[in-house]
Amino acid sequence: MSHGPLAGRVHLHWRRTKIVATLGPATSTPAAIRGLLEAGVDVMRLNMSHGDHAGHRALFHHIRAAAKNMGRHVAILMDLCGPKIRTGRFPGGAIELNPGQEVVVDARAEVGREGLIPSQYRLIHKDVRPGQRVLLDDGNLELKVLRVKDHRVHCRVVYGGPLKDHKGINLPDSKVSAPAIPKKDMEDARLAVELGADYVAMSFVRSGQNVLALKRLLARHGASIPIISKIETPEGLENIAGILDASDGIMVARGDLGIELPAESVPLVQQQLIRFARMRHKPVIVATQMLESMITHARPTRAEVGDVANAAFASADAVMLSAESASGKYPLQAVQTMDRIVREVEGYQWKKGAFVGEEAAGEELVTRDAFAHAASTLAQELKLQGIVIPTRGGTTARIISSRRPTAPLVAIAHEEAVCRRLALCWGIVPMFIPKRYDYDSVEVCTAVARKANLTRTGHNVLLVSGFHDNPSLNEPTLKLVRV
Ligand code: PGA
Ligand code: MN
Repeated sequence: MSHGPLAGRVHLHWRRTKIVATLGPATSTPAAIRGLLEAGVDVMRLNMSHGDHAGHRALFHHIRAAAKNMGRHVAILMDLCGPKIRTGRFPGGAIELNPGQEVVVDARAEVGREGLIPSQYRLIHKDVRPGQRVLLDDGNLELKVLRVKDHRVHCRVVYGGPLKDHKGINLPDSKVSAPAIPKKDMEDARLAVELGADYVAMSFVRSGQNVLALKRLLARHGASIPIISKIETPEGLENIAGILDASDGIMVARGDLGIELPAESVPLVQQQLIRFARMRHKPVIVATQMLESMITHARPTRAEVGDVANAAFASADAVMLSAESASGKYPLQAVQTMDRIVREVEGYQWKKGAFVGEEAAGEELVTRDAFAHAASTLAQELKLQGIVIPTRGGTTARIISSRRPTAPLVAIAHEEAVCRRLALCWGIVPMFIPKRYDYDSVEVCTAVARKANLTRTGHNVLLVSGFHDNPSLNEPTLKLVRV
């Protein structure tokens, strides 16, 4: 098939943009999980907003068993609910809100009725002021606060419609004072520690302090699990620098973010967050509604295809499926579709010789970034077949990955857990090598390059090592290795 001047599609052996798939009722059997892994899922997400501990435990073991069976390094991300605010229930299961109608949101009521909306969040009356918005059901319904009397918030309905039980409430104009780690999250975090999750995602992160609090909680249980902070409120966005410093990665959680911010600002925010995280060597996941229509249809809309392609163009570390893979009719097709879209973009980028646009001019590089930049340039100019990166905790691999080099990246680690974590990071092919005392890095590099089918005899790969967080131990080295 030829497309005239656009001919010459390139198919890369390794996809650089990783795929995160959420598991759920549609994908809870060992066979379904295996199918997703075969289709190319790199990270499995367990959403703690649904299901119980017994169910999550079973899924966790199914994933580990399938990955082991297939010889793959697959990360498991356990996503905590966070202080998501919800309505209570109604006697008939729903009420109708009519535009212009006056309604009361009640922080004490258990059950609602016509004109009365119970809030499961008991402090809602303390957080809102007259004139502010109360959004219900993913922003489909909108109220404006008229006045607050005791625990009752009187509102005018702006956009109406049916309101069912337990729908989400968003307060985009307010600073929510609900605790950052609700009791349920504490229990779920404990489960994550018990099972040995590779990542924990924190929802509705408002500050770096929130992240540090979760770090301390995990530490009290004796674990240090990397934390992915979900950016889904204006407050989280304001405090992004502190959040990113405290976190091990971020998620552009466009579902809630698109409710709390004007929807039209989400694409730009996404672009900025991807770049911001990349410059700080932290993985960034683009999430929610990527292939939404595939929940019910075998083919995506053209707009959704554009959305996934756009995230790959911006070189996000990963793209994510939510209900598409958890409860949709076509979970496998959704993963396959995502894989194909991303590969199409990456083939084009590779042919052009760059996976990211021009870096900002005059950008000041610290030593290891400068080395990573040099490694990337060297690999490109010498047409190297790969970059091999021995890495202890994963830092060196993430720094090299953040320059988005065109050559494939093979990271060698002595710990399976490090390999699994690196499964989330852009372009990295993790490889586990048991630790030996007579470890010769050139020898290992050669063996790995062969094993990964990176190159033929006589060709060169680049060996990168020696990056360290501690400046006095930082000895970055680039070495050309002839295989
Ligand atoms: P959720 O988070 O799916 O847990 O709500 C993602 C989002 O809000 O986009
Ligand atoms: Mn969310």
